[in-house]
Amino acid sequence: KAKNAPNAHWVFYKPDMAEQIVQRRELEQELREAIKQNQLFLLYQPRYDISLQKITSLEALVRWQHPTHGLFMPDQFIPLAEETGIIIPLTDWVLTTACREVMAKSADLSLSVNISPVEFKASDIVFRVKSILADTGFDPSRLELEVTENATLSKPENTLKIMQQLKSFGVKLLMDDFGTGYASLNYLRSFPFDGIKLDKSFIMAMDDSDSAKNIVEKIIGLGKDFNLEVTAEGVETLSQLQQLEEFECDIAQGYFISHPTTLDKIELNQNFKNKKITIPEE
Ligand code: C2E
Ligand code: MG
Ligand code: MG
Ligand code: MG
Repeated sequence: KAKNAPNAHWVFYKPDMAEQIVQRRELEQELREAIKQNQLFLLYQPRYDISLQKITSLEALVRWQHPTHGLFMPDQFIPLAEETGIIIPLTDWVLTTACREVMAKSADLSLSVNISPVEFKASDIVFRVKSILADTGFDPSRLELEVTENATLSKPENTLKIMQQLKSFGVKLLMDDFGTGYASLNYLRSFPFDGIKLDKSFIMAMDDSDSAKNIVEKIIGLGKDFNLEVTAEGVETLSQLQQLEEFECDIAQGYFISHPTTLDKIELNQNFKNKKITIPEE
């Protein structure tokens, strides 16, 4: 067939694609502005120490209140931020804001912040974190950076160096969504993580699957062997919390403890063992 015969798909999709590019450009511009104009805000989700029966740490989760389109969740703008480099000022804003807000809430809370895999590859993350800690006066040993394991796919020597530098001034490293990537164990072996966050899909499967329970128990045991703090993500029921306590899991996080919420709504001294109802949604 002739090479330049009309291509129905191309003709059909072209206007759509052009439109998408324009929309993307607009959103990109709006996101840059959003950071400057304070349209971003943070919700916090408690991390509950199961044996201490105490909230010991808060994870900052970013939201974007768009002036006309309403509330955007991170999945709707973090990928765009990563592709455009906006992630750098965005993370700087998240880190600075979270350090200030959490310090004002309590002097002995730790803070977890999600760092994008893309920026974790560049060594300026070390300088940025260090400056923000200095600017805010936040105690480095109470800062935990959460990184998903694909962060380390390329240039492992580089990543290792960055991790060691961050750790050298006391910052902790948590592997987020543990078990969802294809090389979780390999990463544990190669990089100096202080803890793992067991992905919510494992916890959610526990209630009706013995094999899921078994896997969770084994991963918690493995965490202990490696001297890692183990957090269970996505804890939604009392029975999951009880099961995790039995397995001697360190930290629980999830809707049963609390939805991500504004700082003022977080009650630090709650005992979740006797809790009957869940906190209403954000
Ligand atoms: P993540 O760090 O794994 O955070 C956990 C996500 O699961 C959050 O979604 C949280 O609201 C949700 N979650 C917590 N407990 C439960 C539960 O019991 N059940 C269920 N079904 N879900 C639960 P969110 O806030 O939409 O964040 C999604 C992802 O976006 C985060 O996953 C994180 O990877 C990313 N993210 C959030 N904030 C930031 C940020 O400031 N910077 C960067 N780079 N990424 C961020
Ligand atoms: Mg996280
Ligand atoms: Mg996670
Ligand atoms: Mg994640």
